[in-house]
Amino acid sequence: MSLFNPTDLNCPSCDRSFSFELCASVNADRRPDLRQAILDETFQRATCPHCQGTVRMEPRLSYLDVGRGQWMAAFPRNKVDDWKALEASALDSFNRAFGAGASAAERELGDALKARVVFSWEALREKLLAFDAGLDDVALEELKLLLLRDMQEPPLPLGAELRLTGVASDTGDLDFTVLDRQGQSLESLTVPRDLLAEVTGDPEGWAELTRSLQAGPFVDVQRLSRGQ
Ligand SMILES: [Zn+2]
Repeated sequence: MSLFNPTDLNCPSCDRSFSFELCASVNADRRPDLRQAILDETFQRATCPHCQGTVRMEPRLSYLDVGRGQWMAAFPRNKVDDWKALEASALDSFNRAFGAGASAAERELGDALKARVVFSWEALREKLLAFDAGLDDVALEELKLLLLRDMQEPPLPLGAELRLTGVASDTGDLDFTVLDRQGQSLESLTVPRDLLAEVTGDPEGWAELTRSLQAGPFVDVQRLSRGQ
């Protein structure tokens, strides 16, 4: 079930309060429109009725798509340094719903679900795009490491991250944006999909990183550098 809770927000522009339906969970099988709104980057945007200012609420929700075998816990961008604790609590929630603590039917469902933890709308959207394009998200993170290594002259600001923003339907080329710590876009780049072969063609060379990246559901290069 998709869940929304009415919440009083303080408008960041005029500081007056208004009520907003804050999303706590998305069931993409029953509400494909919510999945589409995440892809369109329109989800959880609020317009203040007093000053018409707009604000986008940070995600703090669970996401379930049985059809695509996806389960995700999404947290606000500024919580990424707490990923170890949040990953553990997300895994706990997943196991209660679909693991040892659940009924046989739910456990069977859980076996077909890939659990992921993300921080920010961009990271959630990236996982949806990668799935639609048939990209393995571990290989995608390894490709980012290759790209980041080549982008160090001049150095990127501390905490900058790469996010997949699109996949060309004809060539399969991959569009990325570089975001700073606050999520502001610094630049964008397009890389040929063939570059992924440098990762997928050498599983032994990447084995150690693959192990590190999939040590938990937070499958993201940030697990190598943040919250240490
Ligand atoms: Zn306002």
